[in-house]
Amino acid sequence: MISRIAEIRSEAAAAIAAAGSSEELEGLRVRYLGRKAELPGVLRKISELPPEERGKVGGAANRARKELEELLGARAESLDASELDSKLAGDRLDVTLPGAPPHPVGHAHLVARTQRTIEDAMVGMGYTVAEGPEIEHDYYNFTALNHPPGHPARQLQDTFYVQSHPEVLLRTHTSPMQVRAMETQPPPIFVVVPGKVYRRDSDATHSPMFHQMEALAIAEGITLADLKGTLLTLARALFGETREVRLRPHYFPFTEPSVEVDVSCFQCEGTGALPDGSRCNICKGQGWIEILGAGMVDPNVLGFVEQYGYDAERVQGFAYGLGIERVAMLRHGVPDLRRFFDNDLRMLEQFA
Ligand SMILES: [Zn+2]
Repeated sequence: MISRIAEIRSEAAAAIAAAGSSEELEGLRVRYLGRKAELPGVLRKISELPPEERGKVGGAANRARKELEELLGARAESLDASELDSKLAGDRLDVTLPGAPPHPVGHAHLVARTQRTIEDAMVGMGYTVAEGPEIEHDYYNFTALNHPPGHPARQLQDTFYVQSHPEVLLRTHTSPMQVRAMETQPPPIFVVVPGKVYRRDSDATHSPMFHQMEALAIAEGITLADLKGTLLTLARALFGETREVRLRPHYFPFTEPSVEVDVSCFQCEGTGALPDGSRCNICKGQGWIEILGAGMVDPNVLGFVEQYGYDAERVQGFAYGLGIERVAMLRHGVPDLRRFFDNDLRMLEQFA
């Protein structure tokens, strides 16, 4: 009997080691340890043996059963692991393969690309890029920019107010970030602020939502000449290496002096006429195109951030604000600003 138990044990051990799947292994478990199997049968019939054999046979049969259970468990674990591995290998999906049929690759919106072109030019001159809230306090949007309550210039930028909080509005320009940026760091500061702004306007060159880029430079000894040099670099990055800029006196509440900035026309090279003698349609024969407003930061504005180190007697600076859509329209000949926001692919795909 003892030798039969050893025989069963070694036969079962060999079969378990050779099992190639967990299904096959389950069959072996039933065959060697199941209810009708020989080894459990031996254990059930221990009591029928002569008393002097019971201990030896029972011990051997129990050890054999325990050993086979352990072998089955270990083999099951390694089979499970390798079956999982091969399942994973079989199910592998290469997400870098092209789709079938291949999907067209998208591209950034023309407004976003224009914004990045401007940012690149400004970062190249040492500016950092910052963003600010679109829902703004009256204080930052108007008051701290020298538009006190009742100032007529507020009317030019009529906007959307929060009904229950009349001091909260959708910002009308990116300029509120001038004061916000100065509150976070002492001078010198060189920052550009791109973002969405809102006004109650809608026609071919106005949309209730559009994008602006604000630039602010404050340090000791900054002059209007620095502003002009900065604008010339920017204009050449946007409209070509041979561009020139000119400044015309203007009025903005938060800069003094204020200027409107023209760039020489990139279509007629500033002559106002096309090669066939007809009037240039982009600059309307003027040779110059207005691109943005700018000026030296009004000392009154610095007064709002004096406690952050902006002493108007010690530091000066300039700011400009430009409409990103306007630049994109000029560069690409887009006749209506609202087309940027129609989501018409025939329009957007022209600028891939
Ligand atoms: Zn022209």
